Amino acid sequence: MITPIASPWESDLWQSELKLAIRSSRSLLKTAGLACDSAYRPDDFPVLVPRGFAAKIRSGDAEDPILKQVLATPEEAEEAAGFIRDPLNETTDTFNPTPALLKKYAHRALLVTTPACAINCRYCFRRHFPYDQHRPAVAKDVIEAIIKDTTLTEIILSGGDPMLLSDAALAKLYGQLAVVGHLKRIRIHSRLPIVLPQRMTTELLATFKNSHLPTIMVVHANHANELDANTHRAFNVLKAAGVTLLNQSVLLKGVNDHASVQCTLAEKLFDQGVLPYYLHMPDKVAGTHHFFVADRQATEIYQDMQASLPGYLLPKMVREVPGKAAKTQLISITHEA
Ligand code: SF4
Repeated sequence: MITPIASPWESDLWQSELKLAIRSSRSLLKTAGLACDSAYRPDDFPVLVPRGFAAKIRSGDAEDPILKQVLATPEEAEEAAGFIRDPLNETTDTFNPTPALLKKYAHRALLVTTPACAINCRYCFRRHFPYDQHRPAVAKDVIEAIIKDTTLTEIILSGGDPMLLSDAALAKLYGQLAVVGHLKRIRIHSRLPIVLPQRMTTELLATFKNSHLPTIMVVHANHANELDANTHRAFNVLKAAGVTLLNQSVLLKGVNDHASVQCTLAEKLFDQGVLPYYLHMPDKVAGTHHFFVADRQATEIYQDMQASLPGYLLPKMVREVPGKAAKTQLISITHEA
């Protein structure tokens, strides 16, 4: 008999936390101890921040790296040359022959499981994604497409955030994927262990632990201040359930565009049992130009990281180029010591 992994949190706590999340710039500024007279209200991508994550913002600091990731500002409405709604061509039929299933790379397919996130990151590359056309209301078709494509070895659960599905829905999906003989593993891209660690329920951990398909979870932290005792608890129970933990972050102007900030993040991730995997160059998405870091500066940051970190703590600095068979490395790793 497989021994269950007990979560440190009650099973319904994450949903209550989500209901209480901050949903306006005004309320966020107030929580951050800042004046709210200049609060900005975006039309299409509302403010959404779980209170536990907002509590990590330094009070009274308008430049706080967590606040900058989640506070809507008027710059989002500015037009900037080259910044468009779908820079990765994710909505084209080439990637998307079956709604909700994006096949960009060999042997892997990305399943858009839900449009919902627990947080709205202002730099999000899918902030304009037409989720209504790609909802897995057609889940049966999607599973059939996965069964038919025998080249697939890995399904990547994405969104939105796939861990916003209920425990029952995720268990069902794992069950459907488990019987597809050519699959070797399931990867989950999720920000929830960072922004809503209470999501790691006993039932969810059982789904991971009981599946014969190994789970790789790529979490998403951009700054060391996002990691605390609760994220550490979440990582510990995930690891106990057999989940392999990696981190991806995005290089963001004013948030983490300094080598020392990146190195501190890498060290803290390691302390909490997570290995840095990718450092993404931001995509040129409309409404996010104020986060953009130019290639030259990114290269300098990365060279300083290389000089400072052991190879196993150095994430790959990558950018996604539509149509390429793999992510493009901006600068190659020159040492592995
Ligand atoms: S959690 Fe991920 S998908 Fe959701 S808003 Fe943030 S970056 Fe976008």
